[in-house]
Amino acid sequence: MNETKNIDVVNMVNSYINEGKSEIMKKELIFLGPPACGKGTQTAKLAEYLGFPHVDTGSLLRAEIKSGSPDGLVAKSFIDKGNLVPVELVSNIIKNRLAQTDCNDGYILDGFPRSLEQAEQLTRINDEINGDTAVNFMAIYFDIDTDVLVERIVNRRSCSKCGEIYNLAFKAPHKEGVCDKCGGELVQRKDDTREIAQSRFDTYFHETAPLIDYYKNKGVLKSIDANGSIDEVWERLLRVIND
Ligand code: AMP
Repeated sequence: MNETKNIDVVNMVNSYINEGKSEIMKKELIFLGPPACGKGTQTAKLAEYLGFPHVDTGSLLRAEIKSGSPDGLVAKSFIDKGNLVPVELVSNIIKNRLAQTDCNDGYILDGFPRSLEQAEQLTRINDEINGDTAVNFMAIYFDIDTDVLVERIVNRRSCSKCGEIYNLAFKAPHKEGVCDKCGGELVQRKDDTREIAQSRFDTYFHETAPLIDYYKNKGVLKSIDANGSIDEVWERLLRVIND
């Protein structure tokens, strides 16, 4: 990850005056949107741009599965069906990750919370970790026409080495099956099939979509139009972040 913060942007977004003293607020950015709405690509880019860690719940869970841990085994049985992993399990993983020192100035959280219960857990986790630290919390919703998303999912591939995301329909690798960035092998996620994608959408609409109103009511929600090219969405995302 790029260690150099884009300090101008971070300052512009976060700086505030406290008893005549200028300080930088911790920046907590969470992202909402249906599966394959482009969050993964944009949040990875934003994390690099701002110099904050990209905490991606799906990747953390897949790493847990790969490690063969008991938690990984449990997670796999839910992920393979397109269902949410139990809240205690995923909250513990997130809590341990957000407590690490690289999250002290801020983080980009992708894929958590995914239910109202998880949103409450996140508030509790943040309160525990932050103590008196001043925080700027923002939930960014990727608003997109959902009828194109199943096709996006079945065409999605990712690098088994560096995690770079491709799409055979609109962001194909130069060489079939090979990552442009690191030469790693491109693989399809097991849950990126048509059938499991449908179940992930059902889960999203039942469990996750209510968070849009939840964060709107708290006055911390920003929406962006997530239709269009990667570059177009990136421009809109930067505008919201710098707003
Ligand atoms: P993603 O990579 O974000 O599409 O997530 C892949 C799968 O991991 C989801 O379909 C869920 O089964 C599981 N998962 C990811 N994030 C969470 C979460 N916050 N809570 C429960 N399960 C999750």
